[in-house]
Amino acid sequence: MSSIIQLLPDHVANQIAAGEVVQRPASVVKELLENAIDARATDIKLIVKDGGKTLVQVIDNGSGLGETDARLCFERHATSKIRIAEDLFDLHTKGFRGEALASIAAIAHVELKTKQDQEEVGVHLIIEGSKVISQEAVVTPKGTSFSVKNLFFNIPARRNFLKSDAVEMRHIIDEFHRVALAHPQIAFSMYSNGNEVFVLPSSNLRQRIVAVFGGKTNEKLVPIHEDTDIVNIYGFIGKPEFGKKNRGEQFFFVNDRFIKNGYLHHAVVNAYDGLLKEGTQPSYFIYLEVPPHTLDINIHPTKTEVKFDDEQSLYAFLRSTIKHSLGQFNIVPVLDFDKDATLDIPYEFKDKDTQTPTVIVRQDFNPFENKEQEPFKSSYREPNYKNPTQNSNWEALYACLKEDFSAIEVAHNDPETDQVFGSLFQETTTDYEEEMSAKTYQIHRKYIVSPIKSGIIIINQQRAHERILYEEFLKKITLSKSITQKLLFPIEITFSQYEIALLQELSHWRNNS
Ligand code: ADP
Ligand code: MG
Repeated sequence: MSSIIQLLPDHVANQIAAGEVVQRPASVVKELLENAIDARATDIKLIVKDGGKTLVQVIDNGSGLGETDARLCFERHATSKIRIAEDLFDLHTKGFRGEALASIAAIAHVELKTKQDQEEVGVHLIIEGSKVISQEAVVTPKGTSFSVKNLFFNIPARRNFLKSDAVEMRHIIDEFHRVALAHPQIAFSMYSNGNEVFVLPSSNLRQRIVAVFGGKTNEKLVPIHEDTDIVNIYGFIGKPEFGKKNRGEQFFFVNDRFIKNGYLHHAVVNAYDGLLKEGTQPSYFIYLEVPPHTLDINIHPTKTEVKFDDEQSLYAFLRSTIKHSLGQFNIVPVLDFDKDATLDIPYEFKDKDTQTPTVIVRQDFNPFENKEQEPFKSSYREPNYKNPTQNSNWEALYACLKEDFSAIEVAHNDPETDQVFGSLFQETTTDYEEEMSAKTYQIHRKYIVSPIKSGIIIINQQRAHERILYEEFLKKITLSKSITQKLLFPIEITFSQYEIALLQELSHWRNNS
């Protein structure tokens, strides 16, 4: 009986492997950017079209490839990065599996132009669905350019499964962020459909974070740093008051590689305990350096899930490092130099000059002398209740309150009322409500005077009405948001590229629904 098991042809095996490595255009972006970094490029350019569905191109100024290597790199398990199994435990490169290019070439149209520094001319290679279509010499600058066109052209089911351009673009920007943040010293640029999206010059870590997420990020960052035997921790965390509603700005890097790790994330959130507003998430850009042999990256082809030898100690170190930084940098209050100083002055005193009180010192006064002597005279005079004319100045004390009390004066001196329902201080009836309405006065068509349990209340009708309207508008603006008005001078709001992609995605979704 003939055997039924056959070895799959390479291009079929590659297509199957591609399913794991390449899920969407963003996966291609990640693999190509990482290859450029491994080739020690200092300037990397990413060009995408239609959310990467039509084109993903990465141009670098790295080491380039020779003629043979240019062909070999598309073979499965072809890599220059490891040679023996032991190398897996001492990794210093992003790639090592040797399957990315083989997988990509199996499901797209790939064009490679590459030249090494010492060569006169470079190699131009075109591959479609794992088949080499052409290979020729080409004049090209030192470095490598990979163009990946028409992704999933031979797997229509996968191609149809891709989301809108805006969604795919957001995934690409995510990958770009991760690589750009892991390597601030490398210059990156990104273009989409001919438009510049990012131009990031070589810089330090803080500058890179600010360049990626916008100028306002700078004030939010708190540096962290801790060196221990098993891990070096550095980077930045966001101040608690700038917590975000989504998890957009949370990054862990281990040995310059972006990773996802729920356990370490928990350590960070735990360190912020009680400092964050309900429903907000901290931002963080945390870089861990561990000895390569204590790290296993070989868990998943995308290499974002890794296994640490001593995760528990890492958790404890990370948590205390963050707590320490939060304590050190967060307690300093922010001085607000822009504040308008006149705002603090009470309205009544705003335009008045200050007056120095006069102090009269009697030089010859002796406290031990007989009290019968001439008594001490100061500028202060006891009020003379018997002779009211001497106290004519008493009203000045109430200068600022005068307006408010005028109603009382009126009521006192000139009880001219429009309607008089009863005597003001008569307290004989038992039904309080009735008593209230029966004793409400209006004076000068301006004030309402009414007795209350503790005395008397005088209400300025006009002001009470204004207050009621004010409360009403305030409620409308803050609660129901029903009032909108176009601003005379528009306010400029800056969004990060990630947020722009998100907005486009949302408006696209809204238009379609
Ligand atoms: P891996 O990165 O895991 O080694 P890849 O399939 O991504 O596997 O790449 C295969 C090989 O192609 C790499 O080992 C490297 O030698 C070479 N290579 C890929 N991209 C570049 C590049 N941009 N510049 C120079 N060499 C490259
Ligand atoms: Mg690679």
